[in-house]
Amino acid sequence: MRKIEKNKFDLTDEDLMRYNKHILLPEIDIQGQNQLLNKHVALIGLGGLGCPIGYYLSSSGIGEITIVDKDEVDITNLQRQILYTNDDLAKRKVDVAYDKMTALNPNITIHKLDTEINLKTKPNIFKDIDLIIDATDNFETRSILNKLTLQTKKPLIMGAAIQMMGQVSVFRNDLDDMPCYNCLYGDLDNESTSCVEQGVLSSLTGIIGSIQATEAIKVLLDIGESLQSKLLVIDMKFSNYKVIKLVKDGNCKVCKGKI
Ligand SMILES: [Zn+2]
Repeated sequence: MRKIEKNKFDLTDEDLMRYNKHILLPEIDIQGQNQLLNKHVALIGLGGLGCPIGYYLSSSGIGEITIVDKDEVDITNLQRQILYTNDDLAKRKVDVAYDKMTALNPNITIHKLDTEINLKTKPNIFKDIDLIIDATDNFETRSILNKLTLQTKKPLIMGAAIQMMGQVSVFRNDLDDMPCYNCLYGDLDNESTSCVEQGVLSSLTGIIGSIQATEAIKVLLDIGESLQSKLLVIDMKFSNYKVIKLVKDGNCKVCKGKI
């Protein structure tokens, strides 16, 4: 396990080889890679989105990753949840994900939380975490994550995939006067909008998860322009990709701090 010292240029010879293709990018370079190794990201949900995100966070050298999920591996997961195989059926997802992500990159630290995010979750779950990725599959959890990240002032990378449609957005809940998730969706009480009930195209979850991992790296290193205050909407059926600008809802009770 790596002993993390904040903001020190301490890449080992192995790191220089492992992250060679990042280091060659002017947007990352040695300094950016070292920054990634000093970051801590929370990945909430280890399903269709969380699996590719988990792989990419690990391979990218995010120094600390906290993975959160309360489920076990089921055969209906295997169509899209690429961390798992037939051998993993009935095992806890956090345990399998920990093993796979550690096997991919043994030089990072992974913390596992076999739990769910719910109304009882305390904001200090995100203490010492730089960025949160929402890879869950329901409005209720997303809404709770929105509030928790507003309370703790952390950026939130949201993704969703249902049938052949996907969405990604970056909510800069760490900054003032930005639109939040609730500004976009309000107090929706939508229990049925989940891939569990409506199905989802396997490869679409890989696309959305990969975009979320990409946006996370961009936000962590302040690269280019992120999907901050924007919503990417992908319709794979018609190969249609749109980016919609989001505006803050002046009446949103959540980011006004009234809820
Ligand atoms: Zn809001």
